[in-house]
Amino acid sequence: MTPIEVNVERVSGDEGGGRRHPNTCPNCRSHFRDDELRHSLRVCAQCNHHFAVGAMERIEQLLDPGSFVEVGGDLRAADPLAFVDLKPYTDRLLDAELATGLGDSLVAGSGKIVGRPTAVAVMDFAFMGGSMGSVMGERFCLAADLAVARRMPLISVTASGGARMQENILALMQMAKTVGAIDSLREVGVPYISVLAHPTTGGVIASFASLGDVVVAEPGALLSFAGPRVVEQTTGEKTAPDFGRSESNLRLGQLDAVVPRRELRGELAKLLMLFSPAEDEPTGDNEPLPTVGSDDNPIDRVLGMFGLGRKRG
Ligand SMILES: [Zn+2]
Repeated sequence: MTPIEVNVERVSGDEGGGRRHPNTCPNCRSHFRDDELRHSLRVCAQCNHHFAVGAMERIEQLLDPGSFVEVGGDLRAADPLAFVDLKPYTDRLLDAELATGLGDSLVAGSGKIVGRPTAVAVMDFAFMGGSMGSVMGERFCLAADLAVARRMPLISVTASGGARMQENILALMQMAKTVGAIDSLREVGVPYISVLAHPTTGGVIASFASLGDVVVAEPGALLSFAGPRVVEQTTGEKTAPDFGRSESNLRLGQLDAVVPRRELRGELAKLLMLFSPAEDEPTGDNEPLPTVGSDDNPIDRVLGMFGLGRKRG
């Protein structure tokens, strides 16, 4: 009998040294070409794992082609603290911009979903871990300003490790600033839809990301202020296997829905249809604006129709 030669494909996906290729599924270890992943919206065709999506690709996935117009794209972080850890903050900013092509961890602007106008604020974890700094906060507020000025909903997609330590108090201040921006949406009855992607943690989940009139998340995303390891170290107790994940957040009432990425654009389109008139419909510009806390607030009315309570801070 002649020996049979077998080619064994290395399934670990490790590039030596234990580093996994970014296109190898961490769950089932299937490996994909980049165009395959882009085509599948970066969802693993074998096991449904949701890979990270960059901000511009996310905008491409969600908005009508060619409809996106950016605001605040020229803003760049200052470095008033002249912060240096292993390297200067200014070097980190430059490296992140070269790696991602983005000026900061959030891209803001306006566009359309199935013809419905919306303001958008989309985070990119690849830019310094999606950290929350002064430019991220300012761009979020610019998107909120657009939503208020044009009376269109605001949709945010978050992926963040939390506040950017290199900006210290300036980063923490963005929590109050972004929450203030959401308040201004509420004052004029403009809806805010928050989409949480993996991971949304720290100062971002502790501020604007949790405050959507509708809050949805992608499957399996870690959504918690502190990660399970920190919680275990602090409490001395073992956390549940699904601690902080989308599914447990839904069970505990923190989310309205867990929406697979393939259905996200469709679900957002449905929400926009409920909340906003199409361009050819009357905009209601001449109607008096609803006052804060009014029973006749359009958001409350729509949420009531679906048995969803509006969360008030
Ligand atoms: Zn997989």
